Amino acid sequence: MASIPSTIDNFIDGTYVSPVSGRRMPDLDPATSQPLGELALSGPEDVDAAVSAAHAALNGPWGRTSVEERAAVLDAIADGIEARFDELILLESYDTGKPVWTSRNIDIARAVSNFRFYAGAVRHYSTDTHSMAGALNYTLRRRLGVVALITPWNLPLYLLTWKVAPALAMGNTVVCKPSEVTPLTAHALGRIAREAGLPDGVLNIVHGLGADVGAPLCAHPKVKAISFTGGTATGHKVAAAGAAGLKKVSLELGGKNPTMVFADCDLDRTVDGVLRASFANQGQVCLCGERLLVEDSIADAFVSRLSKQAAAMEIGDPRSPETRFGSQTSLAHRDKIESYVQLARDAGGRVVTGGERPSLGAPWDDGAFYAPTIIDGLPSDSRPALEEIFGPVVTVHRFSTDDEAVAMANEVEYGLSSSVWTSNLRRAHHVAAQIEAGTVWVNTWLKRDLRVPFGGMKASGVGREGGRYSLEFFSEPKNVCIDLT
Ligand code: NDP
Repeated sequence: MASIPSTIDNFIDGTYVSPVSGRRMPDLDPATSQPLGELALSGPEDVDAAVSAAHAALNGPWGRTSVEERAAVLDAIADGIEARFDELILLESYDTGKPVWTSRNIDIARAVSNFRFYAGAVRHYSTDTHSMAGALNYTLRRRLGVVALITPWNLPLYLLTWKVAPALAMGNTVVCKPSEVTPLTAHALGRIAREAGLPDGVLNIVHGLGADVGAPLCAHPKVKAISFTGGTATGHKVAAAGAAGLKKVSLELGGKNPTMVFADCDLDRTVDGVLRASFANQGQVCLCGERLLVEDSIADAFVSRLSKQAAAMEIGDPRSPETRFGSQTSLAHRDKIESYVQLARDAGGRVVTGGERPSLGAPWDDGAFYAPTIIDGLPSDSRPALEEIFGPVVTVHRFSTDDEAVAMANEVEYGLSSSVWTSNLRRAHHVAAQIEAGTVWVNTWLKRDLRVPFGGMKASGVGREGGRYSLEFFSEPKNVCIDLT
């Protein structure tokens, strides 16, 4: 059993502190609905204290650090996460309901890589020079100041550290607002950063609800930039707050990602890949392929094979090393998924597999489990086929030409990612070029090189994260022009 803190306080100016109001709310294990601890329910006064600490820290030792010194701190934070690897795996699993297999191989492993990657990236980062007749221009990049980092509940430490690492690398100070549904690993990060030598006030974490913490954080006049990952509806509010304060804003939002399976694909590899794209992290990855487009001639056989593998997934105790499919991250979210499946049934959809809460016995029957679900026979423009469900529910739609497949892929309002499964290289290039999405994978899914641009088109966001894109978001260029005449 991990040592789960009974009170989850804010981390402000290097110290764990209670919210000013003293108010708290329970943090639940979604796999059992049992309380894990009590979380700070903060408000604008806590946000103000955190932003003030972050602002003051800009003029402290952190403001005088070199790139090499900051990179060394990032590496030390990565070491600290590695030293607590097993504890963090359990905390993430208890908080989210995901299997320890997932938090070990994906979440916590990636949190380590995020710090190591940005330590290296900032060491090797360089800026431009522009030589002109009679003058030389060179570009410097300056930190922004205090930045707000707001993250969702599906990949808590993974997504938080994906923002913290580049923000610190460029010399900013940060105020983080993790989802109130999954506060535990963010809570642990404060201590790890302090032990790694990060000066007080550089990393601050304020827990609580979006309206009470996220909104005042976005509106705070001393916050210079907002990096937000979450739903598209919240993204609109964050964008409005950013516009009002003339802040730099990065938005990583929702998705309804098409998986496109052509008859010439390598069938065994494709079934395995599509299973992963459909149900990884219980379907709660913004990149999951909820909209499965399959070429007519192989559709029945493909759906039958995929369904058999989905039905055979090992569901249950998230703490068992054998488990590959845990619970949804909250009961409220499981209810939302169920309502979409009902909508699909009402619209004439045929549930091929899943479509129910699995019967797992005590204590899991009180948890937020929902079986991997495949639904066939729905029109491609029906609500469950167009709207983000963000759960283990895939709707199947058939196409007969490449043009039809591309049109169906682009029918959604989102544009985050897509995967294309074909053995025909020409088709792969042709289709990839036409899909309206920030990332297209060909014969793979979620293969990530942290240097590449990551982000969405259309309703999936504004801006890109990753490699130099994040380093540039968290800094601003200044051109110096030297007269040489
Ligand atoms: P939400 O948009 O509901 O919440 C995201 C974060 O924003 C939470 O910390 C939330 O706090 C906070 N928040 C809520 N209201 C405000 C506000 N007015 N101002 C500032 N912050 C606010 O998303 P979910 O947590 O439900 O996450 C799921 C969504 O995230 C899905 O749509 C998914 O696709 C998307 N996502 C996108 C990714 C990408 O890279 N594009 C990656 C992962 C997820 P609280 O929890 O208290 O409401």
